Amino acid sequence: MSHHRGKTLALQGSPISLGLAQGIIHVHRELLGLMDAPVNIAHKQVEQELASLDIATASITNDLVVLATRVEKEIDTRLSEVFGSHQLMLNDPSLQQELRKEIIDNLVSASSAVKTVFLRWERRFLSLESQIAREKGDDMQDISVRLSNALVGITTHPLEEIPDGCILATSRLLPSDTVFLANRPISAVLLEYGSNISHAALFVRQMGLPCISKITDLMTTVPEGALALVDAEAGTAVVHPNKKQQVAFRHRIEEKALTSRLAQENARRPATTIDAVTIPVVANVGCANDTRLAMLNGAEGVGLYRMEQVYLGRTSPPDTAELVAEMKLVLAAAKGHPVCVRLLDVGADKPLPFLAFFAESNPALGRRGIRLLRHYPELLRTQLQAVLELAGEFDVHILVPMVTLPTDVGVVKELLLELCAEQQLTVIPSIGAMIETPAAALSAREIAEHVDFLSFGTNDLTQYTFAADRENAAVDLYFNDASAVIFRLLRLVHRDLPQMPLSLCGELAGRPEHIAKLLECGIRTFSVAPPLIPTVKDAIRHCSCNPG
Ligand code: PEP
Ligand code: MG
Repeated sequence: MSHHRGKTLALQGSPISLGLAQGIIHVHRELLGLMDAPVNIAHKQVEQELASLDIATASITNDLVVLATRVEKEIDTRLSEVFGSHQLMLNDPSLQQELRKEIIDNLVSASSAVKTVFLRWERRFLSLESQIAREKGDDMQDISVRLSNALVGITTHPLEEIPDGCILATSRLLPSDTVFLANRPISAVLLEYGSNISHAALFVRQMGLPCISKITDLMTTVPEGALALVDAEAGTAVVHPNKKQQVAFRHRIEEKALTSRLAQENARRPATTIDAVTIPVVANVGCANDTRLAMLNGAEGVGLYRMEQVYLGRTSPPDTAELVAEMKLVLAAAKGHPVCVRLLDVGADKPLPFLAFFAESNPALGRRGIRLLRHYPELLRTQLQAVLELAGEFDVHILVPMVTLPTDVGVVKELLLELCAEQQLTVIPSIGAMIETPAAALSAREIAEHVDFLSFGTNDLTQYTFAADRENAAVDLYFNDASAVIFRLLRLVHRDLPQMPLSLCGELAGRPEHIAKLLECGIRTFSVAPPLIPTVKDAIRHCSCNPG
């Protein structure tokens, strides 16, 4: 087999998600990059390209109509109007004329014509003064992507087609990519770019997928189809390993399996500190497998159910029944234990496909999390209704993301009480605010008037405190979620609200070396990725809540 030949190649990067894996490398290249050069055609192909353009235009028009109707019914009339206007723009006679002219005059493929013409229009709009014209530029880009995809026949996401069991090598992993990677049996991920706290990083950790990032020149050096041994603990990978390396690696995998089996057995018992305080360790989950693994690993419940996946993979939002069905599926293994459902946290780097056209100059500071839900109360209502339905079967709690103002939780509480009254429910699920902005930490007392507990989201708290994008590796230096500044904010909240139950569900909770200090800051529940539960429990057993 070809992968036994070839020169041994050692790759070095930084560990993102720990573990060992071996497998065959599959190199995934970004599709749009490949289409950069204009594709020239012969004269006799012109008719065919014009026909493809018409077919793609018709099919996108149809998609847009369907999308507009569903959005109008399920979310908001204003939103559906945007799809209506996309449809008009796409079918604009002068645009269509220019596309045909490009194909005929320059003898290029329909895809190439779409790229050049749309870019020209987009630039034209973006150079105009008015805000409305500028937003049209973004709309043009959106339509252009849809049309280009339809022309090359992309109806599925390219990552849906990677082979099972492979080691995925790719330049970067976008948040939307991870939606399509969920539940795919790949064995490890190698990346050229990507910081330790990016959503992609959370995702691989959550899946227990070994992952190494920041491998210089990965995309130009790594061979497709080669055997590789990935040691994500050391941040190294060996491509085309020799026999001796393979045997040694297999021994390490076996040893590791044995240690983690022992840790797993220990993890079934509660984690009690030296001074006899029992600390619940719960899980961050996004799919049914996460919850299953979490419970096997000794989780005492779910501390953060990220429901974004239900919304991200589709072209229109789920209704209450669909949402309830999905939640039951994801949380099934945790029945009988407390589960915390976080309301939808999209916007910023996780745009909703059916809301993707918001042109915000600074999306991380824009309409994300609860801000988006306040703007589209129908989305919020559907989610609360789903939670109330779930409460019949599960011990369910609500977590509000991206809180900055006390009213951000006030409105949720108000609507929840209204729905409970309508349905004559007497048991009302408890509500917690995520503390992930400095403003929330600094006004915890006011926020506390509306909630029953607080959960620190240190990933975002760090991003907003240090003004450092968690997705941008170039500002890694500024992103330190274990810095004294963050601990100071945690302590401050605890001092302001000594009786308030505090939990932590950011990545910081999963790092054993910080647990003693977090306990000192009053954190009494740790919510971590399912594979990390045994290690975190182990660390808690070596700490005290009130040392000295
Ligand atoms: C956080 O910000 O720390 C958090 C737990 O939420 P997410 O990572 O989903 O933004
Ligand atoms: Mg967050």
